[in-house]
Amino acid sequence: MDYYNLLTSFFKLKLNVLKMNQSDEESKIIDGRLFAQEYLEKILKPRCKIFTEVYQKFPKLSTILVGEDPASESYIKLKDRFFEKLCVESELFRLPEDITEKELLEFIDAQNKDATIDGILIQLPLPDHIDTDIINESIIPSKDVEGVSPSNVYAWAKATPNLVPATALGVLALLKYYQIPLKGKHAVVVGRSMIVGKPLAHLLLKEHATVTICHSRTKPLEKHTREADILIAAVGRTHVIKQGMIKKGAVVMDVGVNFEDGKLIGDVDFDDLLTDADRITPVPGGVGPATTSMLAGNLLLAFEIKEAQHDIEKIKSIKEYYTNYSKV
Ligand code: NAP
Repeated sequence: MDYYNLLTSFFKLKLNVLKMNQSDEESKIIDGRLFAQEYLEKILKPRCKIFTEVYQKFPKLSTILVGEDPASESYIKLKDRFFEKLCVESELFRLPEDITEKELLEFIDAQNKDATIDGILIQLPLPDHIDTDIINESIIPSKDVEGVSPSNVYAWAKATPNLVPATALGVLALLKYYQIPLKGKHAVVVGRSMIVGKPLAHLLLKEHATVTICHSRTKPLEKHTREADILIAAVGRTHVIKQGMIKKGAVVMDVGVNFEDGKLIGDVDFDDLLTDADRITPVPGGVGPATTSMLAGNLLLAFEIKEAQHDIEKIKSIKEYYTNYSKV
């Protein structure tokens, strides 16, 4: 073989190894868009026929955004794009940054009483002068599609979920969709908010995982993250989970939504963790789309529970229908 042929063979071999590595890496990616599409087609859309024929109306979501927040804007855009494909109505109310707490409570009260609205979503974070707990407590539980009102919190903390925060559900749905075993596994959740970290910890406990929750005062963080079979980062800061902070074969779920140099990124250094992780979510395209589909699921569930008019058996089967992620 002459030198030219030898060189060509060498590069072909290198290219094949590179392609193999690439597809190895691709197979590690947890594709939130794929899940969201399937959940839309197989679970959500089939209900539209029933809504048309039986109820002769569609569910309506009201989203309330106070002031401006880039992460909220990105979430709303994703949500609107998804909801356009579905038989739901969605209205966004933009309220000024300087609205008083009393004015906001009055606004929510009017929406609680509005029979045409089935779900109320208040985008967090709220401005500092408004008490988030007071606002969350003001949403009536039956319209609380983010699962933050006291009786819904009690329900998910007691492992009898009703309406559960969509992001926590989105992470659980992806884990189930990808058939990642949870029973007896060590799940480490970084972040302890009421809309992600805490509800997710409860959902994972219900699945019989052993759960550790970390937060800003956890020292050293890497001691805990390295012990995780399943690591969930829900912080909202870039580069929180870096190379060397996970154990080989871990599943990494990145909930974070951050902007760096105008680019949307998560809390996790995705490229650096690809080698060690067994499975990993990208940002964008991971937890985000799953969250949106869970929010839609919550809205349809809230609507159907209302229409079921206290028929316990019917409500039970409706809940099972919307939470059957592994069958999607
Ligand atoms: P949050 O209320 O601000 O909570 C952040 C949590 O991270 C807190 O518990 C905080 O600890 C902890 N933390 C902060 N710095 C830390 C550090 N250096 N090391 C360890 N823990 C640290 O935020 P959130 O509402 O839960 O949201 C978290 C992220 O998820 C944000 O980026 C948000 O935009 C994103 N998000 C994404 C989706 C989606 O669909 N992908 C949906 C909702 C939210 P302390 O409690 O000690 O302060």
